[in-house]
Amino acid sequence: MIEAIPVNEPLLDGNEKKYLAECIDTGWISSEGPFVKQFEGQFAARVGRKYGVAVCNGSVALDVAITALDIGAGDEVILPTFTIISCAAAIVRAGAVPVLVDSDSLAWNMDVNQIEDRITPRTKAIMVVHIYGLPVDMYPVLTLAEKYGLKIIEDAAEMHGQTYKGRPCGSFGDISTFSFYPNKHITTGEGGMIVADDKVLAERCSSLRNLCFQPQKRFVHEELGWNFRISNLQAALGVAQLERLDELVARKRNMGQRYTALLTDIPGLELPVPHTGYAENIYWVYGLVLKDGVPFGAEEMMKRLAQHKIGSRPFFWPMHEQPVFQKMGLFADESYPVAERLARRGFYIPSGMALRDEQIKRVADVLHEVTA
Ligand SMILES: *Cc1c(COP(=O)(O)O)cnc(C)c1O
Repeated sequence: MIEAIPVNEPLLDGNEKKYLAECIDTGWISSEGPFVKQFEGQFAARVGRKYGVAVCNGSVALDVAITALDIGAGDEVILPTFTIISCAAAIVRAGAVPVLVDSDSLAWNMDVNQIEDRITPRTKAIMVVHIYGLPVDMYPVLTLAEKYGLKIIEDAAEMHGQTYKGRPCGSFGDISTFSFYPNKHITTGEGGMIVADDKVLAERCSSLRNLCFQPQKRFVHEELGWNFRISNLQAALGVAQLERLDELVARKRNMGQRYTALLTDIPGLELPVPHTGYAENIYWVYGLVLKDGVPFGAEEMMKRLAQHKIGSRPFFWPMHEQPVFQKMGLFADESYPVAERLARRGFYIPSGMALRDEQIKRVADVLHEVTA
């Protein structure tokens, strides 16, 4: 029997167990426990921010960010079409309008050259999303934000430990957000973080995540919030994971380099770019794109890998092609060819933190076999 290789397996062999045991021994399991504040403070410091607000996942972090920035009906937010649904969902749920740009075909990030054309008098913010391991080219975005007076929401869910021109990802937005889902570089099982430098904004996020309870009159509410709190158990994992962030990022880089060395001779595969002018890839996932000469798409490829018990996932499906948004009348007749191609020809292979060298070798061997 050959062993299955899952698409993601996390690595929890640091202080995770010890800190979890502390929660249980002390009885502190809710969001009131001490690990939550510790995780918020340490994480914020790590990305060079003043404030961290931990939440229960990276998707709701975006909901809070949008609401805290007073983005709502009549406002437009520019974002890449090639991203996770959470980004556009947060904008639409707030009553605002998502406005899309295509991706650049090399780094798969939003094509920053398309942003300015999409700015209107209603544009309120740019939602930047760093995709799969390389950051968005931030300086042009910052320049546009300054020129037109726009807010920046930075979705850094895949970017723990990454930098842009030496500055931490997660330090660029008016509000920046992270996820700690098990396939991210550090995980709390489920979890997320909002970071910011503005005290008032951070306090607003903190209040929104906690039902907008008030310090004085707790059960009298001026505004509607959510219960998006994180538990002390999750934060305990977060503190343990954060201690090893550098090691974990190095591990992923090493995996990425290994895959690249083993796959580079397959003519039908476009490999991830190892670096751009502003960052070294941290390979959140190791993504591959089937070249146009390959007579089948990502779906067929993933079936072939599954026959060899190798887990894989498709790339994101573009926002303008989402039935849920089409039914709302959004993005009618819009086309973003780069994202459409990535969605149909892109997939990613086992990339979890616990992936071993011999598994990487087997995945590479199978890819040679099934791409031929
Ligand atoms: C994972 C991810 C999210 C969502 O995070 P969850 O914790 O799974 O809700 C948001 N944005 C991006 C870019 C992601 O990769």
